[in-house]
Amino acid sequence: MEMQAPAAQAPEQLIDPRIRAQGSWKIFWRFFRYLLPLWDKAILVILMTFIGTPLSQISVFIGRFLVDEVILATNKTGGWRMTMFFIIVGVQVLLWLINRTMYFVRQVMSLAIDVRITARLWKTFYKHLHTLSVDFFRTRPIGEHMYRTGEVGGLLNIIHYDGVALVDMVYRIIWGAVLVSVVDWRITALVLLNIVPYTILNHWAYTYFQRVDFDQRRRNQRLTASLRESVAGIKTVKAYGKTSLQLLKYTHRVVISQRIQIKRFFLSILMHYYVIWFYNWSTDKAKWLYIAWQTMNGNLSIGEFSVMFWLVGQLEYPMEAMVRHFQNIRLHMVPAMRVLETLDVEPEIVDPPAARAMPPIEGRVELRNVTHEYVPGQRALDDVNIALEPGTFAAFVGPSGSGKSTVTNLLMRLYEQKEGEVLVDGIDIRTVKIRSLLDQIGVVLPETVMFGGTLADNIAYGDLKADEETLMRAVDGAELHSFVARLPNGITTDLGEGAKLSGGEKQRVGLARALIRDPRIMILDGPTASLDSRTEIAVLRTLKKAMQGRTTLMISHRLVLVQDAEVIFVMDRGRIVEQGKHDALLALGGLYASMWREQMATTHEPSEDDPKGDEEATR
Ligand code: ADP
Repeated sequence: MEMQAPAAQAPEQLIDPRIRAQGSWKIFWRFFRYLLPLWDKAILVILMTFIGTPLSQISVFIGRFLVDEVILATNKTGGWRMTMFFIIVGVQVLLWLINRTMYFVRQVMSLAIDVRITARLWKTFYKHLHTLSVDFFRTRPIGEHMYRTGEVGGLLNIIHYDGVALVDMVYRIIWGAVLVSVVDWRITALVLLNIVPYTILNHWAYTYFQRVDFDQRRRNQRLTASLRESVAGIKTVKAYGKTSLQLLKYTHRVVISQRIQIKRFFLSILMHYYVIWFYNWSTDKAKWLYIAWQTMNGNLSIGEFSVMFWLVGQLEYPMEAMVRHFQNIRLHMVPAMRVLETLDVEPEIVDPPAARAMPPIEGRVELRNVTHEYVPGQRALDDVNIALEPGTFAAFVGPSGSGKSTVTNLLMRLYEQKEGEVLVDGIDIRTVKIRSLLDQIGVVLPETVMFGGTLADNIAYGDLKADEETLMRAVDGAELHSFVARLPNGITTDLGEGAKLSGGEKQRVGLARALIRDPRIMILDGPTASLDSRTEIAVLRTLKKAMQGRTTLMISHRLVLVQDAEVIFVMDRGRIVEQGKHDALLALGGLYASMWREQMATTHEPSEDDPKGDEEATR
């Protein structure tokens, strides 16, 4: 076979260009706003910083006075000098105490800000994530969301530290410039001039760091996704004996991640320890020469000489720190933009502004001329019409991909149809609040997901307000008693994430979860699909009892399980091709009849009356 040269691939984008186009200031502001409700604490932090700076500086000036005017003042009496010495030391201890107290208050306030902002950010991210469509999750690895949740915490840097630090640095620069200028304005000018090349150097370096950071985070995210993937699929990994293959893949990702870490390390070393260090060192020496020269000429006293370097630092440090904080904001834009890549995804299905609450449901379900496309141009449902009276048991059968789940997906508002109407009790479900509709529908999916907590918690997930009696009724309805009786603490036994439950038990918990709502509509999307045939029959028997009096839409691949449905919809390529009762459909001799013959020929179906037809028999 002739090999074709692979098409040239466009370089992968490090970040969605629509996010980058918002601009750093807008993004900064979008997150900085989180600080506004905590303005009182932020002001206290800034105030403590503002007062703390001059206090420590005053202490140095007093030190200079101690050297020049007390220790070196040989013209004063010994007694006077001794008294002054103790007074000054006393004042310094007092200043130190005040300073430390303010530092403590500042740290406590900072912590209060941090924990509140982090909690709000996590909540916002989590809430937003859960408004997004199921397709969003289908198209992105779960590890991505996990990694990004971790990055949300990093936004504190932008919101709190960089922002507050910038204000603090501007203040210190003004204060430092005044202090230095009092002694010699030319030193102020020298320092201010110095900062220009320093800024350029940093800007250049951080532009590169930013790019590397985007890349590094993306690689680390893939590493997390790879770990999640193999842990989630641990059964398959083990069953196929592919632990070493997974390890190899993971190690490959580790190497890819580490490569960029090494690159970043050397870049950082080169920048901070050579370029910027050499720059600082040479400008330091120039300042030293100037200050020493001024002292030798008698323009600065010995005391002034000793504090001059410290004084220059009071201006120089905040100047440099401001440049760094400014650049740090640019660097911290990386997690911010990445988080926005999720936060700025619009939820597809939201309550319309005028949505009302769904009134108590009676159970009439209708689909009128419904057409749906997940992918434009590819019809998953094509002009489907269904009308079910309250209490009807309707089954949906047909080949894989024929559109059965799409019908229930639309009823659950997981997607919105392209054309037509889905009505419950004659109300278009697009006009009601999603939650008020879903709260009244019971759903059992092919596999029931168990959440951490007790069995009672897992059942009450269907209705958190349910009382004990309702809970026990749901347990009865799902015929879970014998299982509950076997648990060490009965219904309050902690099940972890349900790893110890059999498939049948999980599905019964799923049924109890649906029944606790006492819903008028039940959606059973392949509720027994993951079970072996005996367990399937037993669970089905329970399901059928539970369905009494409720409109039920049941999807099943196995016709024998739905032969007593009041209406069976046979679907093929998005259309309902046949509908009616089992016998009528068999008599029709169409798709249903041929599917029935195929299934009868290939399987021996255990009878529903089989006394051993329960999962316990297979354990
Ligand atoms: P069934 O339940 O009968 O197996 P579905 O209703 O799940 O079929 O799917 C109907 C068609 O829509 C299939 O061709 C399937 O590939 C496609 N489809 C289902 N879900 C999606 C989706 N989220 N995105 C794109 N195509 C989808």
